Amino acid sequence: MHEVGLASQIVGMAVREAERRNAFEVVTVTVTVGRLLQIERDSLQFGLDVLKGEHPCTEKTRFVLVDEPVQVHCSWCEATTIVDAWRFVCGACGSGAVAVTRGDDLIVSEMEVRGNENIAGTAGHGSE
Ligand SMILES: [Zn+2]
Repeated sequence: MHEVGLASQIVGMAVREAERRNAFEVVTVTVTVGRLLQIERDSLQFGLDVLKGEHPCTEKTRFVLVDEPVQVHCSWCEATTIVDAWRFVCGACGSGAVAVTRGDDLIVSEMEVRGNENIAGTAGHGSE
């Protein structure tokens, strides 16, 4: 079951990002999960909830899994449409000449942390 491996990668990413931002706590992590990856969301969520306890900064983190639909681009009519995960035809003209443009990503799309950076951020307009 690769969900546990993925969960550990995601938690690892959150921990590294927290360190990079000098944060002491990760509040929420939004993970975009493409449908094509065939990830069992319950297993992934479970893995995240187990593994987050291993790091002080992710102990209370809320992991939000967002479903990414499969999107294809048609080289025949140039339309970009959302399709069923396993039906790779253009939603506009029905052509099979399509390329997947979305739906195979596993990315941390958003992350909210609590820490020094946020405190510094309220102090005024710092340069980037
Ligand atoms: Zn088309």
